[in-house]
Amino acid sequence: MDPREIALFSRVFHLPAEITMTSVDPSPTELVMGVACQAPCMECPECHQPSARIHGSYQRTVADLPCAGRNVILVLTVRKFVCGTPTCPRRIFTERLPGLVDSYARMTSRLIALVQALGLVAGGQMGTRQADRTGIASTPSTLLRHLMQLPAPLTRAVRVLGVDDFAWKKRFTYGTILVDLERRKIIDVLPDRESATVEAWLKEHPEVEFVSRDRGKDFTKAATMGAPQAQQVVDRFHVVKNLSEVLQEILGHCRAEIRQGEAAVSEFEKAAEERARGLPTVATWQQRTPAHVKKAHQARQASRDDRYQQMATLRAQGLTQREVAKRMGMSERAVRTWLKRGAAPTNERHFRRRSVFDPYAAYVLERWQDGIHEARQLYEEIQAQGFSGTVRIVQRFVQALRDKPEKITLAPATGADRFSSKTATWLFIRDPNQLTTQKQAELELICQRSETARKTYALTQQFMSMLRLRRGQDFELWLSAVEASSIPQLRRFAQGLLKDKNAVVAGLTLSYSNGPIEAQVHKLKLVKCSMYGRAKLPLLRQRLLHAA
Ligand SMILES: [Zn+2]
Repeated sequence: MDPREIALFSRVFHLPAEITMTSVDPSPTELVMGVACQAPCMECPECHQPSARIHGSYQRTVADLPCAGRNVILVLTVRKFVCGTPTCPRRIFTERLPGLVDSYARMTSRLIALVQALGLVAGGQMGTRQADRTGIASTPSTLLRHLMQLPAPLTRAVRVLGVDDFAWKKRFTYGTILVDLERRKIIDVLPDRESATVEAWLKEHPEVEFVSRDRGKDFTKAATMGAPQAQQVVDRFHVVKNLSEVLQEILGHCRAEIRQGEAAVSEFEKAAEERARGLPTVATWQQRTPAHVKKAHQARQASRDDRYQQMATLRAQGLTQREVAKRMGMSERAVRTWLKRGAAPTNERHFRRRSVFDPYAAYVLERWQDGIHEARQLYEEIQAQGFSGTVRIVQRFVQALRDKPEKITLAPATGADRFSSKTATWLFIRDPNQLTTQKQAELELICQRSETARKTYALTQQFMSMLRLRRGQDFELWLSAVEASSIPQLRRFAQGLLKDKNAVVAGLTLSYSNGPIEAQVHKLKLVKCSMYGRAKLPLLRQRLLHAA
């Protein structure tokens, strides 16, 4: 190769200064390039004196970054020098090629960096496959070995630390995840959730000022022993979780009470509804459904009811929902919802159809109350006002007023029938302003029927608003209200909080929360699953810390 070509190739392949290309030999699958160092002298690694006496040379091959889909192999000509210092124990040394390849390495430094990046993103198996596609020959174990050689990233000082556990294997083994809550980054992953492990970690980080944790005794002990300088903060998410468990227990006991109220109240509601049915308002007044339409509706409803009966019978005979669906030619989903509902769906119209009659409804209702019940006369009156519809429309609306109130069919499943302490717990905890009107009505019903539920709701909301508005100073007030309430489960919950009062008040006052940890735990699970759950802690930790 002439000197101009050598210079060009060395620049194209971005070789470090003084290292130049001596030959290029492309084949369909490989690109073999000869590389040598041109520096006239080299420093002895032992005595650091330069030497220009060449003893000899040998060749060594290393893999480099792939080029245009081909493996690139560098054939390095490595020289051996004689050290000239008489006192130096080294007689002969090999030249180093810094910036290109380390001693004994089989890959160039830049190839190793790429392999590590692939390993971080995709793990051993997937990373190897990806490497293969880009023209890097590797194996999962090589890739992981390089990945594990990455030095631990420098952990910057943590001020606000979040601690939580995660499951290695649910209900069997757990680990601990530590998150910098200000930067929202994972800073460490510990092999278990023993207080001693966390304590040891905390002792190495005296800069921590706040520790956000759950209410478990392990992390409490670890934070107390390991970071006595730090203010502990009980995580609000965990407090709400504990509270909801208590609520579920209380409401479970109230269920009978809430269900028993059923009959009396629905009688009352029925009577009220009957009274209200005397005359419709402008908004609720609908024309009477024509008889033939009604008949068709009824027929379809009867058929659906029968289908439901059949379904229930088959189910009672021991068929699974899937078998029932297959046998009846229905979708499994429909079978499931019908059975869950306990009845066939009805096609009651849930909205009012709009009509040309609407603008005149108020006037006609007024005339009706004045005693004008003749459809034709009413029609003529509104026609004079500009009504463009036919007399039939007016007749249908007027007939609807003449109809006897229809019998109110009780909904097959009422709110109280469907009462579940789990759903009710959610109603109790939510911000009431964010509930739909239907949910608000359900909540009201529960509170009406059970005195305990009503009291519990008031105390729950008091607690939740304290938590939402960060009014930790109201904690004492709430405690005394609970003490006075005589609801044993709530009192037990309050006494539990009292034991950890300092951290609870901090949790109710400060803005720190373990919310970001939840996100990081999801990430951890994702990485764990991407390695089919087989990766042990060191690899998982390496991938999480470097990716973070
Ligand atoms: Zn030397």
